[in-house]
Amino acid sequence: MARPVEENILEKNFMTLTSLGSGAFGEVKLACHLPTHTHVAVKVLEKTKNSLADIITEVEILQSVKHRNIVNFFHVIDTSSTTYLIMEYVSGKDLEYFLRERDFLEENEVRPIFQQVVSGVHFLHQKRIAHRDIKLENILIDRAGNVKLCDFGMARQLAEGQMLEEFCGTLVYLAPEILARKPYDGLAGDMWSLGVLLFVLVTGQFPYRESTFEGMYRVINTTNYPIPYHLSKPCIILIEQLLMVPNQHRIIICQLQERQWLGNIKQHVAPETKEILSKVMETMCTMGYTHGEIVSSLKHKQPSNLTATFNILNLSCGDSHQKNQEPCLNGNPEGAFRLQLPLKRKASEPAFPTNKGDRKRRKIHHAQ
Ligand code: ADP
Repeated sequence: MARPVEENILEKNFMTLTSLGSGAFGEVKLACHLPTHTHVAVKVLEKTKNSLADIITEVEILQSVKHRNIVNFFHVIDTSSTTYLIMEYVSGKDLEYFLRERDFLEENEVRPIFQQVVSGVHFLHQKRIAHRDIKLENILIDRAGNVKLCDFGMARQLAEGQMLEEFCGTLVYLAPEILARKPYDGLAGDMWSLGVLLFVLVTGQFPYRESTFEGMYRVINTTNYPIPYHLSKPCIILIEQLLMVPNQHRIIICQLQERQWLGNIKQHVAPETKEILSKVMETMCTMGYTHGEIVSSLKHKQPSNLTATFNILNLSCGDSHQKNQEPCLNGNPEGAFRLQLPLKRKASEPAFPTNKGDRKRRKIHHAQ
């Protein structure tokens, strides 16, 4: 395991600006990445509150997913007391905030949001990653209307046919088979949560709401959720297919993508990497990095200032269609790429430990 770096390392390259929110595992802060003048979100995970195995799992999963509807991961800084996850900053609000302003959303307003959530979850499920905490608070929308799924603190990479036993998630979004405390399929659990999400968006209410696990389990198995008159038939059918109690009859993500109500989901297309790469290389060379050291550092996949800068610039370039990235210091609205960068590079940081550990998280959120 690599040695953690000194405590004040974050301040060398990042200027912390304000708090973006707090979750069960830590605080997320807005910061400026000084070498590129780019806003980033920094998730602060204190080691007294989070196990190393949990942190490593979150980092490994974040590193393995690149999709326009999933928050982009840039870098990890590990000190002896704290791990900092440096991610793309989504300059908007979470869905819970949007819904608080209104009783519920119209189906036409929900559709483009839900399409993007489904696109992100489809990407995860293709890779057999269960998110396990899909909910309003973990869906961010930027000012251009781009949806980004965040918080991979409970996500799990599954082997073929693997069942999970950890009891975790957010009470009102938990599938009945998880509440039953039996081994469960994490992907089917996500599908139930998507059903709860869709229901709450179009009605403003949770389909089932009890304050205990036993109560939730009982009502799900004995009662039907209320169906408001204003919902369209295709929307009601979709909710029924997602909130199907026997999980073997619940629709899977590929089927969900084809449902009429959802309309055409934009295909995920990876940006033109060759063109972006040459732009990133060019900028990094003007910052003082040599071509050779960039290639070598990326080849060895060691987290360092260089890889952080590379990943941030890579997103700024590839993300121009989303207009999500903004410079944070005297910036040019075109993004970090066109900035006049002071660009003085610093010594690289040691690697983050990558040993795998079994995760024993037993977290349950009680939604208010
Ligand atoms: P936890 O794992 O502790 O629950 P989250 O990852 O859910 O923490 O983050 C907590 C809150 O911080 C989120 O609900 C959201 O409001 C905010 N947040 C998280 N990531 C970002 C981001 N990349 N950009 C902007 N805000 C974010």
